[in-house]
Amino acid sequence: MEKIPVSRPSIGKEELTAIDSVFKTGWLGMGEKVMKFEEDLCRYLQSSHVICTNSCTAALHVALSTLNLKKNEEVIVPSFTYIATIQAIRAAGGTPVFCDIRSDDLNMDPEDAECKVTNKTRAILPVHYRGFPCDLDEIQRIANNNNLLVVEDAAHAFGSSYKGKKIGSFNHLTCFSFDPIKNITCGTGGAIAFQDDSLIDLISQRRYLGIDKDPWTRHQNEEGWFYDVVGDGYRYHMSDINAAIGLVQLSRFNSMNERKREVAMRYDEAFGEISGIQLLRNNDYQDIGLFLYTLLIKKNRNKLIDHLHRQGIGSSIHHIPVHQFSLYRTNTWHLPVTERIYNQVLSLPLFADITNEQVERVIRVVKEALQ
Ligand SMILES: *Cc1c(COP(=O)(O)O)cnc(C)c1O
Repeated sequence: MEKIPVSRPSIGKEELTAIDSVFKTGWLGMGEKVMKFEEDLCRYLQSSHVICTNSCTAALHVALSTLNLKKNEEVIVPSFTYIATIQAIRAAGGTPVFCDIRSDDLNMDPEDAECKVTNKTRAILPVHYRGFPCDLDEIQRIANNNNLLVVEDAAHAFGSSYKGKKIGSFNHLTCFSFDPIKNITCGTGGAIAFQDDSLIDLISQRRYLGIDKDPWTRHQNEEGWFYDVVGDGYRYHMSDINAAIGLVQLSRFNSMNERKREVAMRYDEAFGEISGIQLLRNNDYQDIGLFLYTLLIKKNRNKLIDHLHRQGIGSSIHHIPVHQFSLYRTNTWHLPVTERIYNQVLSLPLFADITNEQVERVIRVVKEALQ
């Protein structure tokens, strides 16, 4: 029996042709393709500036590094996220302070986030779970009242809108992921979208070793060997190979996302009536760049995972709460919703190339197991 993975990228001839064209130029590093990808992303996201990186983790690190955090300075973030979010905060020198999530959409609970603000708080970092935007109005209000930077982890949310405006077009630092299973992929990659002109130089330099010029511009010019180094920086820039894949993926995003939304609606219809299952807040998928199909299994979730595995169906847990890892178990955290949800949450196969037969098989096997 053929296995159904929980996710897989939708990649093929078009992406291969794009890689081939980069090979033919002989310039594999950061060059024209990265610039074109950044321009296309700006247009798509309706953002003033987009700077690409080689991962979302790098994008988050660079975004947070603009604050020059001291060790005891705090960033409020849900524990219910991928560990990358938290490692980026630590890499930027800050201390993560975990807040709880709302039980209906599993996004940051602004009320709890507000309770966690102290005089050491510098930033608030919402994660748009599955692609559904957090309550950005509330988060903005908290940020304004306490003079905090908002950094959005939009790794799940490429293509989503909040109240009719694209995630990535708000006056925050918004970080995207183009890793292999995210909404679009570059193989590996990330981006920071922002509106503040005064951050262009700083973010460009942090992305590329503190150097004041990008390698492509240098390559084009006489005296191209000369550059200055003006501050801290990392080797976080994107390559033209990755950007070429991203350009094709961006052009295919709408159709890939449309298929994922169609599958999610079919799952909602099939699972809505099953007593052991609770759907997440039955959101409208319009305006959503959908990353995951996640539901709550009220009892024996782990047994269901084993059963699905035996039947050749992949599933996954998004996410293991970060405060439960050894790194953070030294503190006691009061995150009751996160802890309850962690025992119930389950992600089912969702990717653009999944067939209707595969979808129906997933539904059949889940129903058999629970009824
Ligand atoms: C995937 C992911 C990241 C990290 O993205 P990379 O591009 O792999 O660095 C960060 N945050 C969340 C919530 C993610 O799902």
